[in-house]
Amino acid sequence: MSQVYNFSSGPAMLPAEVLKQAQQELVDWQGLGTSVMEISHRGKEFIGVAEEAEQDFRDLLQIPSNYKVLFCHGGGRGQFAGVPLNLLGDKTSADYVDGGYWAASAVKEAKKYCTPNVIDAKVTVDGLRAIKPMREWQLSDNAAYLHYCPNETIDGIAIEETPDFGDAIVAADFSSTILSRPLDVSRYGVIYAGAQKNIGPAGLTLVVVREDLLGKAHNACPSILDYTVLNDNDSMFNTPPTFAWYLAGLVFKWLKKQGGVAAIDQINQQKADLLYGVIDKSDFYRNDVSPANRSRMNVPFQLADSALDKVFLEESFAAGLHALKGHRVVGGMRASIYNAMPLAGVQALTDFMVDFERRHG
Ligand code: PMP
Repeated sequence: MSQVYNFSSGPAMLPAEVLKQAQQELVDWQGLGTSVMEISHRGKEFIGVAEEAEQDFRDLLQIPSNYKVLFCHGGGRGQFAGVPLNLLGDKTSADYVDGGYWAASAVKEAKKYCTPNVIDAKVTVDGLRAIKPMREWQLSDNAAYLHYCPNETIDGIAIEETPDFGDAIVAADFSSTILSRPLDVSRYGVIYAGAQKNIGPAGLTLVVVREDLLGKAHNACPSILDYTVLNDNDSMFNTPPTFAWYLAGLVFKWLKKQGGVAAIDQINQQKADLLYGVIDKSDFYRNDVSPANRSRMNVPFQLADSALDKVFLEESFAAGLHALKGHRVVGGMRASIYNAMPLAGVQALTDFMVDFERRHG
């Protein structure tokens, strides 16, 4: 089969090397004669896998020792409930920055547990969609924490500033940007991310929590979302998604081999520059996000003539460029170019786009 590049927003492309290794060891993992997905999470073999994955993840993000890493179920949406249930304590309100679809979804869930003070950060700059700088975010006095989403997967909007809000506890949904660039973990109280974009397959969610924030969970917090319970049980209070955890471990090793987060950051920048460059150079394609807030992971773009959308999708698919259809709430196209997407994939896409414009423009 000829080369396929998968631009899916998640579950998303995984490094080919990782898939091949998983394939090779699928039925006989480390000479055990069984698959890693068939062994007990409590046995020393799997605990070895689990600990190594955690250590590699810590190394990659240089996670300080006063932060715990939890391997959870429930996805990003699980954490929309997990964050308030763990962080509210005796407070009844929290600040929520609304910068797009996922931040707004977090607000909706939080309303079940508290009164969110919603900070609408969406603005228009020179006719383009943008986000208010952090210094203009009006935090309230009585908030238990501040929640925001640094990369809006659907809107293609990124907030790249590093938060600096004094003692305020910052919780952030890094689902579609974790491990794509260096990150100062110490600025956050909680960082969480569903695995299915930059970490591994769906079914696993990572939570990084500062240890002094443990012990505050609401009585009604389900145990499987309770950071303290998860931490006390080394993320094995209930059966963890072992195969996803193992695969995440392979992805972390792969990323270390690429030179880690600093090295992938540079490649991610090149990929984004190439794709936005082609979009900006033509009147045939358009991206309406202000340059300062353009996502390097999810690049939505529209064709000037939407009547060509269908043929664009058919022809790109035939050329091995898959999953370019934009999210149903936005329409148009979207190319998700996470860590596993090589520069060659973005080159293939931009070559196709230029050629498509030549033929249909
Ligand atoms: N947050 C962000 C930024 C996302 O992109 C997504 C899923 N695409 C979610 C949350 C929801 O994640 P999940 O489906 O794992 O619950």
